[in-house]
Order: sequence, then structure tokens, then C-alpha cells
Amino acid sequence: MLLLRLLQKPDRAPRFGRVLDDEPGVVELLDGDPLLGGKPTGERLAFTPQQWQDDPDGSEVELLVPVVPQKIIGVGSNYRNHTKEMGKPIPSEPLLFLKPPSALLSPGRPIARPQGFERCDYEGELAVVIGRRCHRQPVSTAMNYVLGYTLCNDVTVRDLQKRDGQFTRAKGFDSFCPLGPVITTDFDMGRAAVRSHLNGKLVQDGATDELIFSIEELVSFISHVMTLEPGDVISTGTPAGVGNLQPGDVIELSADGIGRLKNPVIAAPALPTLSNRS
Ligand code: MG
Repeated sequence: MLLLRLLQKPDRAPRFGRVLDDEPGVVELLDGDPLLGGKPTGERLAFTPQQWQDDPDGSEVELLVPVVPQKIIGVGSNYRNHTKEMGKPIPSEPLLFLKPPSALLSPGRPIARPQGFERCDYEGELAVVIGRRCHRQPVSTAMNYVLGYTLCNDVTVRDLQKRDGQFTRAKGFDSFCPLGPVITTDFDMGRAAVRSHLNGKLVQDGATDELIFSIEELVSFISHVMTLEPGDVISTGTPAGVGNLQPGDVIELSADGIGRLKNPVIAAPALPTLSNRS
């Protein structure tokens, strides 16, 4: 089953929906958040996230991020080949960081690239969506707390990641967390692949058998640091092939069973300067 969120015009009320495996072109609307027990209403819409992303403005429906998390936990250096390309050692335990929920960006919407930086990189990642509260769980039970999987683009200003020495600003700009287009509840994460296409050219092609820390290990490890709440997102790290985005580019992530997460890139307004404080 696939889960998604959308806005219906003209009242623009966000609705949750589901797509059943035997009817891939039809969204069945729910009466509330499936994480809080939302049930099917019987209302049905002919809609596919893929067609919508190719023409987001020409529709009476607008696709939204499929979940609104309290927190988005990123994992750095979790693919061997990406860790190598960044010139870093293989970590002995997961490297965690947070992205603010204000960075979330719906499918089809533009990533606003801050001006004045050399590298503003895409990072195509598979993301875990938590289904119920998870606190201090061992690896053996961690998967019981996973609702499903989606795609996350962990957009990063590489200059700032190096200059600041931590990740808050580098990974926290508005629009730096494209998420979606759907959550799939049926997904074999052990054999999954995530790909990124920049302007139609394949630039990342990673398989989860390259993960340094598995999904179970990440969920368990994080749950001993912070309680995971329903809807929280863990972005599991990016494979090799990260690269710079420029205004005018289109970046598209994809995974079998989840679909494509497509976002164009625009230039953000210039940043003010806070220097000359002497
Ligand atoms: Mg990342």
C-alpha cells in the first residue's frame, strides 16, 4: 500500500489518501491521518504522483509531503562509497544530525539554492517513516516501529558544512528537505536501490547492501538517544555521486516501489551579511 497527502482545490484542505496495489491510478481518500487511525472514506480520485510532478500547476489537486514529522534525523557517512568520495573514515557508530521540519519541501516544488556558495549538493536517500512511539528498542524489535519508506533529498551547502563544523545551517535552509512522493508500506529495504538523475542524467545509483549501519541498527541506535514519535523520518544516508545544483536544474530521486521525487532548482534571494561588527 502507498500513503500520500494532497491538497484539494478550491478549499485547499490537506487530505490523506492511500493507493492500493491493485488500483495504481486511484487514490482512496482517508478521514484523517493514518498514523492516528484515519480510515477510508469511500471518496476516490484518479491521480498519480508521477504525472502530477511532471505538470504540478495544471491540476485541481496538489501533492504534499506524505508525512509531517516532528523531527527529521539525518545519518552522515552511511554508504562506504560516499564516505570514500568525501575522504572520510568509515564511522564506528552512526553520525546523527537533525534537519528542521521547516526545510520540508513537497514533490514538484522548487529547491531555493542560496546564493554565494560554491557547492549546494543533492543527496538522494531512502528514508524510514516511524509508525509508533519508539523508545530504547533493541535491534531485534526495531522494525516493529517502522511504518514504511519514502525518498528524501538531503540538500546540503557543502561549503557551510565544512566552514561551520556542524550541519545545522548547511542542511537546514528552507526547501532543503524534499520528501516523498509517497510512503510505501511494502518494501524490501534489504535489497533496495536509490537513484538520482540530474537533468535526466544518472548521477547516483546506490544499493542498500552498501549501508554501513542497517535500518534496524539505526532505529535502535537513535531510539536510545531520542524517543522516535509516529511520523518521524530517518534519512539513511546517501550513496556516492553527490553533486552541485544550479538554478534551472531538475533533480529527480527514484526507487522501485516508491516512485520518483522530482524538484526543480531556483535561486534564493541574496542573504544579508552580518559581518563588520567591530
Ligand atoms: Mg545525507
